[in-house]
Amino acid sequence: MPPTLLATRGDYEAFVDRYDTFLFDCDGVIWRGNIVIDNVPATLDMLRKRGKRLIFVTNNSATSRRDYVGKFAKLGMQAAVEEIFSSAYATAVYLRDVVGFASDKKAYVIGGSGIRNELEEVGIATVGQDDTAAISLATLGDVEPSADVGAVVFGIDYDISYRKLANAHVNLTQNPDCLFIATNDDRTLPGGKHVYPGTGALLSTLIHSTQRTPLVMGKPNTPMLDCVMQKFHLDPARSCMVGDRLDTDILFGIKGGVSTLCVLTGVADEASVLSPSAPQATYYMSSLGDLFELAQ
Ligand code: PLP
Ligand code: CA
Repeated sequence: MPPTLLATRGDYEAFVDRYDTFLFDCDGVIWRGNIVIDNVPATLDMLRKRGKRLIFVTNNSATSRRDYVGKFAKLGMQAAVEEIFSSAYATAVYLRDVVGFASDKKAYVIGGSGIRNELEEVGIATVGQDDTAAISLATLGDVEPSADVGAVVFGIDYDISYRKLANAHVNLTQNPDCLFIATNDDRTLPGGKHVYPGTGALLSTLIHSTQRTPLVMGKPNTPMLDCVMQKFHLDPARSCMVGDRLDTDILFGIKGGVSTLCVLTGVADEASVLSPSAPQATYYMSSLGDLFELAQ
């Protein structure tokens, strides 16, 4: 069935009545960069007042959940740490709960403080953050694998360096037991003005050099979905995922067996939402903020 446009007050009432839990992608749905999308705070308030459970599911690994709470507050919204599920947090939970990461091992992190904070909060020591010094062919031999490194964790890293890539590469190729985990593999990163290379684009360097395939946690992949399902005990029939990207958010919802709402304030436009070859959302509308207007 093609996606249904939510356009009237009746559509709004039927939509909101049908679900107990709403999962929201953040960038492109709640905000764009640092600018909140019109009427979204009022929409979230309205849903909370109606007793709905809200969960924020983001592929952005640069920011820890605590910093996300600060971002919500700065933009005039309230969100609790427990309501936020990022690909960095999912990676930490996965290593702790599913892998049972050994306490004497460390994670070699290509990524920023968002990932390191989440890993360290679950008791996983991290290395790699200082590997930014320039390197040359003459000094490459200094880069050695370490028996302490039990996993290479890859997320967005605005200070990515050849030294970091070389370190990750030797750990992954010299030690077959070293896990290879990526927070997400978004091909692009929507910036303020243009679209820039995303985590997946940087990650492809290491996939190519090591010929190893990482386990990718973030949307649309199932490890993050399993973590979300387990943590929140979702009833798929009463849950709806709201996103702006068909290949990540909407596919994630479809894989989880939940309904999906695609909004047009981020990556997807109306033509792509209605294309029969794209992942089919259950609903679409121009902006999440329109729910507030429809309810008036
Ligand atoms: N990765 C990075 C580094 C980002 O900055 C963003 C958005 O800001 C994303 C991924 C996508 O985040 P979301 O899943 O909230 O759209
Ligand atoms: Ca998004």
